[in-house]
Amino acid sequence: MTRDFFIHLSENKVLNSGAKRWGLKLGAKSVVAGTNIEEMIESVKELNAQGISCTIDNLGEFVYQKEEALAAKEQILAVIEAIHTNQVDAHISIKPTQIGLDIDYNFCLENLSEIVSAADRYDIFINVDMENYSHLQPSFDLIDEISNKYSNIGTVIQAYFFRAEEDIQKYKDYRLRLVKGAYKESEQVAFQDKQDIDQNFIRLIEYHLLHGKFTSIATHDHTIINHVKQFVKDNNIPYDKFEFQMLYGFRKEMQQQLAKEGYNFTTYIPFGTDWYGYFMRRLAERPQNLNLVAKQVFNK
Ligand code: FAD
Repeated sequence: MTRDFFIHLSENKVLNSGAKRWGLKLGAKSVVAGTNIEEMIESVKELNAQGISCTIDNLGEFVYQKEEALAAKEQILAVIEAIHTNQVDAHISIKPTQIGLDIDYNFCLENLSEIVSAADRYDIFINVDMENYSHLQPSFDLIDEISNKYSNIGTVIQAYFFRAEEDIQKYKDYRLRLVKGAYKESEQVAFQDKQDIDQNFIRLIEYHLLHGKFTSIATHDHTIINHVKQFVKDNNIPYDKFEFQMLYGFRKEMQQQLAKEGYNFTTYIPFGTDWYGYFMRRLAERPQNLNLVAKQVFNK
């Protein structure tokens, strides 16, 4: 119930566009690394100093105007320049809808190609984040077309989808981020039960660790993380074949601890004014995240 409530809020277009004018409110400051490139780069430098790499998400979704999608593309190109100029250890995460997937497939393809090409010049990796089911196949199509020309691109497999096993086999030669899945999906296409999702998540992680190129295990779930630690030990999987990923602001001590233990670790850094949908999905995943809201409100 609570999950559906927050997912519903995350999809509210009026609130999404209104929030852009509010600044970082409702506790979002704890999980969003600033509203501009300078603030975001400072956060990246702090994490790099702790041995943590970063993937940067210039927040944005529900984009239906070409001008807005082009502005997002320009901002992402500026982030690529900032990564290069500041020589920070970071790559980019992009949601296809931010750069025009809901407007026109070919327009989005052009925008993504330009970004991947710019990043390729500096050897920066681009991760195509996966959104809800209706965007899944078009996002894979984008990746298929772009990887004919560039190899600095990878994507996400969401374990709640029935088709995830087939997708992971098809994309095993890619650097993949594996997640449970964050959107509300129908029982026609996705597991609904937490136990089924967790089991499939573990199956996919083990498959890609054994057969894939590079695996980013993106979860805050200590049970899964402990399972992976044991699995890589038992199967002699070298540390340079995988990493753990978590979101900025969540389980900070565990992030630092995993990096200290010698595991590759990447923190997902969202920044920008379009924080609302992202923040509501985090509340949907874990209503305890409301504590962040309370802290923010009361520590003013
Ligand atoms: P959950 O199932 O939420 O939690 C499992 C257990 O872990 C909880 O019961 C609790 O015991 C513990 N736990 C979890 N969080 C905390 C906490 N903050 N503090 C203490 N204990 C905690 N989804 C997509 O659909 N597409 C994407 O492209 C995508 N990219 C992502 C990138 C990253 C780096 C991460 C971390 C997630 C991403 N997600 C994405 C979201 C993902 O799909 C899940 O919705 C989200 O990570 C919540 O699932 P979980 O695996 O963290 O564990």
